[in-house]
Amino acid sequence: MTRPLPDELLKLPHRIEVPFTKLTTLGVGGVCHWLFEPTTEAEAQAFVRACVRESLPYRVLGGGSNLVVLGNMSMPVLRLRFPQELQRNGLTLTAPASFGHIRMAQGAANEGLSGMEYASGIPGTTGGALRMNAGAYGRELVDILDTFRFLTPQGELIEKRPEPGEFNYRCSFLTGGYVGLSFTVRLAGGDRESIQAQVRENMGKRGSSQPLSKRNAGCIFKNPPGTSAGRLIDLAGLKGFRIGDAEVSSEHANFLINHGHATAAEFAELMDVVRAKVRETHGIELEPEVEIWHAE
Ligand SMILES: Cc1cc2nc3c(=O)[nH]c(=O)nc-3n(C[C@H](O)[C@H](O)[C@H](O)COP(=O)(O)OP(=O)(O)OC[C@H]3O[C@@H](n4cnc5c(N)ncnc54)[C@H](O)[C@@H]3O)c2cc1C
Repeated sequence: MTRPLPDELLKLPHRIEVPFTKLTTLGVGGVCHWLFEPTTEAEAQAFVRACVRESLPYRVLGGGSNLVVLGNMSMPVLRLRFPQELQRNGLTLTAPASFGHIRMAQGAANEGLSGMEYASGIPGTTGGALRMNAGAYGRELVDILDTFRFLTPQGELIEKRPEPGEFNYRCSFLTGGYVGLSFTVRLAGGDRESIQAQVRENMGKRGSSQPLSKRNAGCIFKNPPGTSAGRLIDLAGLKGFRIGDAEVSSEHANFLINHGHATAAEFAELMDVVRAKVRETHGIELEPEVEIWHAE
């Protein structure tokens, strides 16, 4: 049963009954009853403030590339649709949180700016990358982050520099109602062609090591200290293990893939099986890297 929403929310840009299969890269999940898509920071702030006034919990969605949604979502979901513009100022580059993360890395390369090459194969939005402190090849966003703008869960707009403890391995404090709005990275000048070549090389490496032809959500589990989750899953003999249309990829054991008609329940069950088998084989508890949204 969905709760009626106040007029001050309903006057903001929104859509109803949008399937999560279209909002996530894994392509599973029920229906998003209320999808709010503000096109300005003021609209995003109005959304948060209205939710606060109504004591209405909400979720924030980016590109859905790190998400498994179980069932229907009746609480409002916020997905930013800001104008897609990168702004260069000397050695810094600023992107709105709805900007494509890979597109930003390519944009930096095209500007002859070095430092974001590591991000060239990490899908989703820059907002999701900020929240997740996305990273690869030993680098992560906080390494280059200069300033960032966000809304607090009370709807206050803040711009600041990152401080120690705010961003850690695949996580940040921007959860539980915080909304990342934009960020600026500080990069180094370099040779445009070699930066672009590095971007292409990083993307090529992924094409040969990840099952990119099937829908997936990237690495499902975080790497435990000193080891790789994919290796633990592989050694537990789970590559190719399948429940319905959900499978542990044979190419990269930390990727679960959707053969076409997998359901969220099948992925949830597959994740449980993987965790139990890795616990039994290695005595290690895997922690999900993907976020799981339960029906609410
Ligand atoms: C093929 C593939 C490869 C991947 N490789 C990597 C990799 O190498 N390294 C890596 O770190 N990740 C990787 N990922 C995971 C994923 O791309 C990143 O976590 C990405 O940063 C998530 O961004 P998103 O916009 O899709 O976020 P979503 O999946 O939409 O959301 C993820 C989390 O971020 C929150 N969020 C989204 N936008 C905002 C916002 N504006 N403000 C506040 N919170 C927000 C959501 O509430 C949720 O908690 C990969 C995924 C795929 C599919």
